[in-house]
Amino acid sequence: MITSEKGFAYLLSAMPEKNKVELELKLKHDNMLRLRIIALLIIAFMLILLCIQLFYTGKIQQPEIIAVAPHVMVLRLILIGVSVIFIVLSGRPLPSDADKRFNHFMMSGFILFNLIGFAVLSGLINSTGPGIASAYIMAALVLATFIHLKWLDCIIIYGLAWLTMGISVWLLQPDWIVAFSAFLNGTFATVLALVISRVIYINRIQDFLNRQLIEQQKEELVASNAILKELTYIDALTGIPNRRFFDEYLLREWKRAVRDKKCISLIMIDIDKFKLYNDTFGHQAGDHAMVQVAASLHKVVKRPGDLVARYGGEEFVAVLTDTDLDGACGVADCMRQAVEELNINYTGRLTISLGLVCIKPCIGKSPEDLIGAADDALYRAKEAGGNSYALGR
Ligand code: GH3
Ligand code: MG
Ligand code: MG
Repeated sequence: MITSEKGFAYLLSAMPEKNKVELELKLKHDNMLRLRIIALLIIAFMLILLCIQLFYTGKIQQPEIIAVAPHVMVLRLILIGVSVIFIVLSGRPLPSDADKRFNHFMMSGFILFNLIGFAVLSGLINSTGPGIASAYIMAALVLATFIHLKWLDCIIIYGLAWLTMGISVWLLQPDWIVAFSAFLNGTFATVLALVISRVIYINRIQDFLNRQLIEQQKEELVASNAILKELTYIDALTGIPNRRFFDEYLLREWKRAVRDKKCISLIMIDIDKFKLYNDTFGHQAGDHAMVQVAASLHKVVKRPGDLVARYGGEEFVAVLTDTDLDGACGVADCMRQAVEELNINYTGRLTISLGLVCIKPCIGKSPEDLIGAADDALYRAKEAGGNSYALGR
């Protein structure tokens, strides 16, 4: 997906501040964890080397090794001590900004200390035999596992490492050929460490950006799913649920009513003489009136389990769960009144007719029976002259 460092720089600069902080925290946390593991390894290896050193004391004949042995031992003890202190201090929870700065300072300090320590150690060891900066290579690799956020940080730390190594080899290695060879090895180790550090850093950023991209795509998918769902279930003109939603809702509530042995009420609503309204004022005015009627019907139905939907054309439907006949009659009359009070004028006021039915669902009956009965009742309300409701059986 994201491959070049130029790409990272561009994406990082475009990244919101919140994500930048998150990335930096993550890198710092990883650095700290890795350094704590390295500190443990240093303790373990130094202890083993100390044991070997103690075991061989007295058996070694070379005077140059005997001469540096106490220094090597003290240095190893210091390296162990510093690693222990680092593990103890870095284990504390660090919530505040000041503590975070201290944390960063501690990490850099630990790395630099180890570099100097290992450089001196390698110088001491090299001065006792053919110079291979083995200890220094180890120190540089330890350093490489620390991920540097900025190039400048890298140059400073690796530059210091390289300088320390050069000085210690120069001071401690009398034979210039051996010193030069150790210096070359140390230089190679520093460059290698720098490259490894950058590769780790780039991989971490790539990981982070890829994960962010996935998160972003997931959010977009959720949002477009929500829009799709709305388009599927909401009537475009009136903004209330559509026929598809009503069908699914009624079936669900029907099953629930069967299970709970509760009654369910259904009201079919039709605008009176709406064709005439359209013919008189035009379809745009008709649409506007439909929106107003839908909103006022919706307002009457207040209980969370109830639903008002557009059934089709200028017809609406209301489902009232766990509502008996008296309750449904009350709602139907409120709806009739609410539409009348909209005061949408033409030959008198715009009105609605309603067909109402309330049944206790049972095996043998279906939601279609409920709709059919409400439709019959609506027909009777129309026959009676409209602007009224009739009861179905
Ligand atoms: P009745 O009192 O018997 O219900 O008479 P009516 O004129 O309301 O009934 P009819 O079924 O003859 O006409 C319904 C009209 O509703 C026809 C159509 O133009 C109008 N209509 C249906 N849907 C819409 C819509 O979305 N917008 C508009 N403006 N009019 C619609
Ligand atoms: Mg109609
Ligand atoms: Mg009508």
